[in-house]
Amino acid sequence: MARTGVKRSNWIGRVLLVDLLAGLRLTLGYMVSKTVTHHYPDYEKWVPYQRHRGHHFIKTNEEGEVNCVACELCSKICPCDCITVIPFENEKGDRRPKVFDINLARCLYCGLCEDACPADAIKLGQEYEVATHHRGTLVVHLEDLVKAPGKAGNGGVVRPATLDRNGGLRSVTRTRPKDAGLDWWSRIRRER
Ligand code: SF4
Ligand code: SF4
Repeated sequence: MARTGVKRSNWIGRVLLVDLLAGLRLTLGYMVSKTVTHHYPDYEKWVPYQRHRGHHFIKTNEEGEVNCVACELCSKICPCDCITVIPFENEKGDRRPKVFDINLARCLYCGLCEDACPADAIKLGQEYEVATHHRGTLVVHLEDLVKAPGKAGNGGVVRPATLDRNGGLRSVTRTRPKDAGLDWWSRIRRER
């Protein structure tokens, strides 16, 4: 009896073109909804959430000295063996890194180096554009890590950006007056 009921409803559905109409309704809904396409990298750039683990940076203190005490814990804990630290003692008798290199081609952005650091020196930031044509440039040095962008004030937003064609093909975010980032979620077509 139940099987007969299902067969009848399938037959009625076919006659009334229910599936076709449901498909057309979905297609037309997308045609009139807002676009969610990112104009990346020329006009917009996604800023990931603060918890994102991207390009590393090294923090400095008020005197401009790196927080790193060259203890090598990050290098020892790194599962990819991609951190090289060579310590030296400065004129104040403080231990500091003479060499601090990270091979980003090997890094898997696990964040263990950040967790192990006792001096709150190394962090993983929100920068993710590390693509390059030259493998050698993926080995970043102490000065690169000090200059690397730190944590952005916010995340989970799309910001106006411009592709920096001369500076390593990266998309650089622009700030407009009163720009607090575009709310990405308001641009999603429909709630799921
Ligand atoms: S994020 Fe992980 S793989 Fe990358 S340098 Fe740190 S410990 Fe090594
Ligand atoms: S970044 Fe932190 S864990 Fe790594 S050598 Fe410096 S102080 Fe030690």
